[in-house]
Amino acid sequence: KEFKEIVQKISKRLNLNPNDLEKGFERKIITKYEYNDKKYLCFKKKLRHIERGTIVFLNDNFDYFCGYPKIKRAMMLKASLDKYFDKKIAIEEKLDGYNIRIIKFEDEILAVTRGGKICPFTTKKVKKYLKTTFLDDYPNLMLCGEMIGLNNPYVNQYYIEAEKDYENLGFYIFDIRERETNIPYSISKKEELFKKYEIPHVKPIIIDKKDISKLWEILNTLNENKKEGVILKDPEMLMEPLKYTTQHTQCNDLSIAFKYTYDIGIDFMFSRIVREGYQSFEMSESKEEELNRAEKLGKSIFLPMIQTIKDVSEGITSKECFELFFESEPDFLEFMNYLKKMHVPIIIESKEIMGKIIKVRICRIYNATTDKIKSHLEGNLW
Ligand code: ATP
Repeated sequence: KEFKEIVQKISKRLNLNPNDLEKGFERKIITKYEYNDKKYLCFKKKLRHIERGTIVFLNDNFDYFCGYPKIKRAMMLKASLDKYFDKKIAIEEKLDGYNIRIIKFEDEILAVTRGGKICPFTTKKVKKYLKTTFLDDYPNLMLCGEMIGLNNPYVNQYYIEAEKDYENLGFYIFDIRERETNIPYSISKKEELFKKYEIPHVKPIIIDKKDISKLWEILNTLNENKKEGVILKDPEMLMEPLKYTTQHTQCNDLSIAFKYTYDIGIDFMFSRIVREGYQSFEMSESKEEELNRAEKLGKSIFLPMIQTIKDVSEGITSKECFELFFESEPDFLEFMNYLKKMHVPIIIESKEIMGKIIKVRICRIYNATTDKIKSHLEGNLW
């Protein structure tokens, strides 16, 4: 009875049919979690109009925060710009880290992942490194951004601008959105607020839609500097943003995918290869350039794969390691507990006390890759 009552209240709050909500619970699309005695529901997938990653706190008011919307990808840049944008385009660098929404709930600053979990590691780092007075003044807004750098548990990518005292970590905010409607602020409005509140942010460059050569110039430079790509936004944020990635990213994604062949290879492969096809076509590449691209593509697939087979043949387990820094033992234990709850298979490789800081090396284990390769090496059939 109590469950039915809660379902009624939440469905009213989210403007979602109670039957859909109940089905969401049954199909485990919606799951309950807890952080610091705050109980919340997480939408693990999109359900009707409710975005994936939306969280609903189980307080009297059922306060909720929308998930960060999916960004569609342009395969043919010029054609998609013509189709989806007006006169001007804001170009922002697509940072290669992980998506985070910084929110304020019941006087506490929290960092929510793309999937809709309050991440204790990220929450602590946000409190340490980011000035969040903005959320004191605007608790009904969310700061959406990318957490970048080497020393985080999700995406390890070195960024010179993320250098701190002893770790490589930084937040760059790219959107301000209303928490219940997900309505984004325009580019000019968000820039004004970023400046006023001294929020580190991604800097947009506004160009005329006709000036596509400028965009290609930016993309070439990003590619040369091994950067991920761009997010293209309507300056008024009335149209949905689009994303476009560099050749470097396609190849880099493929090499990661094939390093962990049987764990992520299949999901990653097709989309990345196809992107290369369209990019080469749109850039009207010569035979020589096509061959060059083919070589890069082939190398990024083949070399990591053969290395993994060699490693497994020598008894090395397939794993991805992260070096993390914690301010205290309870912080460390809290995060280990969180990973356990999320069923992330990890091992702690080393733990070092550095004065007040704890340096930990944790590794995510890729069982499918190790086991399958081992099995084939022993002669078992496909
Ligand atoms: P989706 O396709 O659902 O958006 P995905 O995981 O496939 O998700 P990506 O291909 O990584 O996503 O692209 C979208 C992500 O890009 C966003 O979730 C966001 O974290 C990241 N991003 C990096 N820089 C920006 C930026 N300047 N503006 C918006 N998003 C950005």
